[in-house]
Amino acid sequence: MKKTLLLLVITLVFSCKSEPKDNGKLNIVTTTSMITDLVKNIGGDVINIQGLMGSGVDPHLYKASEGDVSKLVNADIIFYNGLHLEGKLVEVFEKMGSSTKTPIALAGQLDKKNLIGSNYFVSNFDPHVWFDIAYFKQFAKKVAQVLSEQDPDNSETYKLNEIVYLKKLDKLQEDVKGVVEALPAEKRILVTAHDAFNYFGEAYKFKVVGLQGLSTATEAGVKDVQKLAAFIIENKVKAIFVESSVPRRTIEALQEAVKSKGHDVSIGGTLFSDALGNEGTPEGTYVGMFRYNVKTIVSALN
Ligand code: ZN
Repeated sequence: MKKTLLLLVITLVFSCKSEPKDNGKLNIVTTTSMITDLVKNIGGDVINIQGLMGSGVDPHLYKASEGDVSKLVNADIIFYNGLHLEGKLVEVFEKMGSSTKTPIALAGQLDKKNLIGSNYFVSNFDPHVWFDIAYFKQFAKKVAQVLSEQDPDNSETYKLNEIVYLKKLDKLQEDVKGVVEALPAEKRILVTAHDAFNYFGEAYKFKVVGLQGLSTATEAGVKDVQKLAAFIIENKVKAIFVESSVPRRTIEALQEAVKSKGHDVSIGGTLFSDALGNEGTPEGTYVGMFRYNVKTIVSALN
């Protein structure tokens, strides 16, 4: 992080400048669009919410702007994913930790013994946990609990919203299972730009291969592309997938490599991995994003 930004964090944290709160509502700041959508579902209209990362934004590479830092400092509660997903925000959060409010890492609350390990991240775990709906339910429960504690007057609202949202997630789990069952086991190979889908793979018995490893911070080398092209040919993989938050050329280079070996693989569509779709579209919600991804994957591979 730039020294000036660091200085700004420190100045803002210690200047104790409190901005007026709108209508006495809690001011919540969130990072990824998945978490923003979740908190909106639980908080409804009794909270103020500002999400830092919009659709198509890559959280691995995201750097806080000066405006973001001021939002963070003035928030009552900050919810983020954690496990080093928001790699470049970690330093900002560490500074925040010295102020009265500690940002809440939703994935950090999960039982580590069930998480997928990884050497790519300082956390030693794969942070893309929202692709297991069971973990996302735990996020929802934690958010409802924190909001109720911080704002007991509205705890009934949070509890009711939690019940409604958990029911939606139950239904999603059931439906996804049904759609995936249409795809024979040998066709369940998911090749994407970066390794965001390991938890999805574990939940629905897919072999998952990402060209860039778990983070988009390191680019795939020529060797990786050639190796993965050979894998695609060997396993007769029909389609590979672009991701909305990763440049398209990554997966196009892979398609070219397969073609140069005299084989063909199609691009099965664009998946939403580390960010939701545009606000106001079905894919702009977690539930809609999940349904869209599964439908895209199953119809391209079947
Ligand atoms: Zn990622």
